Amino acid sequence: MVAKRDYYEVLGVAKGSGDDEIKKAYRKLARQYHPDVNKAADAEDKFKEVKEAYDVLSDNQKRAMYDQYGHVDPNQGMGGGGGDFGGFGDIFDMFFGGGGRSKDPNAPQRGGDLQYTMTIEFKEAVFGKEMDITIPRTEQCDTCYGSGAKPGTKPDACTTCHGTGQQEVVQNTPFGRMVNRRACSTCQGRGKIIREKCGTCHGAGTVKKQRKIHVRIPAGVDDGAQLRMSGEGESGLRGGPSGDLYIVIRVKRHEFFERDGDDIYCEIPLTFAQAALGDEIEIPTLTEKVKLKIPAGTQTGTFFRLRNKGVPRLRGSGQGDQHVKVVIVTPTKLSDEQKELLRQFAEKSGEHPNYGGNEESFFDRMKRAFRGD
Ligand SMILES: [Zn+2]
Ligand SMILES: [Zn+2]
Repeated sequence: MVAKRDYYEVLGVAKGSGDDEIKKAYRKLARQYHPDVNKAADAEDKFKEVKEAYDVLSDNQKRAMYDQYGHVDPNQGMGGGGGDFGGFGDIFDMFFGGGGRSKDPNAPQRGGDLQYTMTIEFKEAVFGKEMDITIPRTEQCDTCYGSGAKPGTKPDACTTCHGTGQQEVVQNTPFGRMVNRRACSTCQGRGKIIREKCGTCHGAGTVKKQRKIHVRIPAGVDDGAQLRMSGEGESGLRGGPSGDLYIVIRVKRHEFFERDGDDIYCEIPLTFAQAALGDEIEIPTLTEKVKLKIPAGTQTGTFFRLRNKGVPRLRGSGQGDQHVKVVIVTPTKLSDEQKELLRQFAEKSGEHPNYGGNEESFFDRMKRAFRGD
């Protein structure tokens, strides 16, 4: 067994504290570490530790034993008193992971998370955007502050389960007493009976509302990104925290730019003459037009990099790059004069082209090639 912290220390109370003080400290800590509320990895262990301390310190007999011996060992019985370790159900919960999960109808409960999908333009993702969205969500009823009861009235504690929301069914078996718990059938596990319902929420304690929420999309988000808006989900119950709102970003395509992470890609057409002779051309970037020098003799498919003309980095500083792919476009509409110049060009290059309409066709040449003459 691991070393245990002092029970008084666990609850943060002095040794001579009264029952009320211990109860108050326990309630506060149990709320804080309740696994339904606290999602920290060690919350459940803390909750169990707090519960264990309270189980001992709230029982006069056990507390006396603890004060005297510094421990209470259930296996050795209570001063020879036999196996009745008080609320068997509590121990049962403790060892079998019940942990009070949703069992206590009066425990605070965290509100549910919500998801909202938002489609934005390519450049909005690059530069960020602020906007208001309206989402339907469940909130605590303002009329009854979540009690579900008509203002001025209070829900009555259920007399069947005395407000615990649970009924215990005790069975005697050869191995001892077995305690099963189930939701109270009178109050359906709520622990309360509402005699006069709140007119606004009809006893639910919550209402659906259209809630306007201001969303700030940071510059540099990419398609599929999720923004978590803490506490903007559904309201918690009985003082529990609200859930979170997750905004899923969908980014529309751009007709000219493509994006890969923080880098931007685009294609620019070049004429044969520009590629062969070199040129200086204007390239649109996300923010402005910049000049790009094309060296003489550039091949089709060559990439040029424009540094820091990409997307602002979401994490860290700076921007990605823009990559420009040049594609050489073959001219399709040539005048007779242009054709003649190209023929002369080819001949000067040592080519012996057989261009044009009147000469032997491509198919004739193919046939000739197969005949072998
Ligand atoms: Zn209400
Ligand atoms: Zn009940």
